[in-house]
Amino acid sequence: MTEIPEDHPRHDSLVTRHRIEDGVDRGITSRQGLVAQGRGEAYDYLLGEQTLPSADGAERVAAAHLLLAEHAVLSVNGNVAALVPDEIVELAEATGADLEVNLFNRTEERVERIADYLREHGADEVKGTKADARIPGLDHERAKVDSDGIHDADVVLVPLEDGDRAEALAEMGKTELVIDLNPLSRSPQTASVPIVDNVVRAVPNITAHASDLRDASREELEAIVEDFDREAALAAAEERIRTGAADGE
Ligand code: ATP
Ligand code: MG
Repeated sequence: MTEIPEDHPRHDSLVTRHRIEDGVDRGITSRQGLVAQGRGEAYDYLLGEQTLPSADGAERVAAAHLLLAEHAVLSVNGNVAALVPDEIVELAEATGADLEVNLFNRTEERVERIADYLREHGADEVKGTKADARIPGLDHERAKVDSDGIHDADVVLVPLEDGDRAEALAEMGKTELVIDLNPLSRSPQTASVPIVDNVVRAVPNITAHASDLRDASREELEAIVEDFDREAALAAAEERIRTGAADGE
């Protein structure tokens, strides 16, 4: 990988792009993942490549949901594994959530590679290899999940999820936490908690909130969840993209 000077004005964006390229070279990220990253970058540019106050609020709500969950699962695809392998493992540890590999373009080989990669980055157990249950309403390959993983979960974090699967998971009655830079994409539109932020900023920030809330009571966590206004969060991100105004300004 070419060295990118720390003071380069687009340093973070370039590092992120190289991680995705590296993910493709390692066989953990699909070629479609490159296209998804390009789409994400365009939105991130318009969002000012920063976590909006509304996104930070949604990240705190996501942390509260993960801590309240009976069984939380963090869904990991090829882009997430390439971009935030350490950070997603840390989030699982901080919240007691399971990790499950869940791919749009599923191949057993890529599932295994991602699971190995997460274990190299400190994960104890990685689900997604059994694929012994189905999400209703999706075609066979896209529907595969683990019966003791996503299928059983009450709360799922799905970064960069495809719109159809986000809708199908929501129809199963799950609390869905979606990270996606495009507030108009169907995935955040169907989410219980839409987080319009880059996964590289969002995941560590959810972990920071979870650490901060570790000793909070159930009542406090429930109050954070109750107070959340998903429409306002989506509107604030769209407003920032359309007018350049950060929410709260
Ligand atoms: P649909 O409306 O069906 O969801 P789509 O165009 O959103 O269609 P996807 O395959 O879901 O299709 O596209 C990938 C999504 O992931 C895009 O919305 C893009 O903004 C988002 N994305 C890409 N990279 C990142 C990233 N690093 N962090 C957060 N979101 C990202
Ligand atoms: Mg989408």
